[in-house]
Amino acid sequence: MRSCTLIAPAKVNLYLEIIGDRLDGYHELVMILQSIDLADRLEICAYGAQDFNLTCSHPQVPTDETNLAYCAAQLMKLEFNEAFANYGGVDITIDKHIPVAAGLAGGSTDAAAVLVGLNLIWELGLTIPELQRLGEKLGSDVPFCIAGGTVVATGKGEKLDPIEACENLWIVLGKYQSLAVSTSWAYQTYRQQFGHKYVSDRAAVTSRISKVHSGPLVKSISHKDNPKIGHFLHNDLEKVVLPKYCQVMKLRKTLQQIGGLGTMMSGSGPTIFTLCQSQEEAENIKNKARQAIFDPDLELLITKLSSTGIKVI
Ligand code: ATP
Repeated sequence: MRSCTLIAPAKVNLYLEIIGDRLDGYHELVMILQSIDLADRLEICAYGAQDFNLTCSHPQVPTDETNLAYCAAQLMKLEFNEAFANYGGVDITIDKHIPVAAGLAGGSTDAAAVLVGLNLIWELGLTIPELQRLGEKLGSDVPFCIAGGTVVATGKGEKLDPIEACENLWIVLGKYQSLAVSTSWAYQTYRQQFGHKYVSDRAAVTSRISKVHSGPLVKSISHKDNPKIGHFLHNDLEKVVLPKYCQVMKLRKTLQQIGGLGTMMSGSGPTIFTLCQSQEEAENIKNKARQAIFDPDLELLITKLSSTGIKVI
């Protein structure tokens, strides 16, 4: 195989609870991650040159060594030097559809796609768990993005326990295009404001984890109880992001008042999403939100929950 096309889906957090600090400086988390149909499309093409070349359709996305997809290619080169020497570099083209810096794992899913694509082009035969272990080196969301679906993620987000698929629901996403929230800012601010409630020694973390509130949501997902799924959505990072960005707070209130099963911020934001029973309900909520907030900067998208991660087409 000399080239491949990959579909790289975004994710939303149905649940995000911060437990405490880890020795490595990250946060100990309990999350429920959910793939959605909204996806970037990547073309990876072997051209036999010395290195990697990356282009992206979105002007705000860097195309240098700070692009996470580029980092993924460099990691593969480092780990599989012989394959790189045999097959050479690749051209990576990202057709961006996932809003940037939005809490939707746009960069992570592009990186996941490059790991999957190079595994094929370089004929490495790596398994999904092996690719996920590589993905951990790039970012906490990368392992999830490889296989996708509906997953309870613990640790810093890299320990994955797939649960019953939660896929027959629609979702309205709202994001102000000019607003970007830095994930590290959100977590650092949370630490400053709520760090006194953290637990950090191993025994305390284990006992705190036994008290996490994700159980009712996991149960609602396995019972396919859609109203309860909407009711039990949760995200601790709302406590720092919403007070700082009043536009986002207002968007959340507006979407919640309009209806749907439930409304929440995804990850570190600023994307707000509303879960819906049907496409018709999602269209209706989107139209009403557009009437309520007449701002061309507000991007409103409709998509579906999905049970897949990176797809090769
Ligand atoms: P997460 O939810 O994983 O924290 P995010 O969805 O909030 O991530 P991204 O879309 O990944 O955020 O973008 C965060 C920053 O990363 C952007 O400001 C951008 O400069 C940089 N970046 C690097 N590589 C990419 C990429 N392939 N796609 C988008 N942004 C990228």
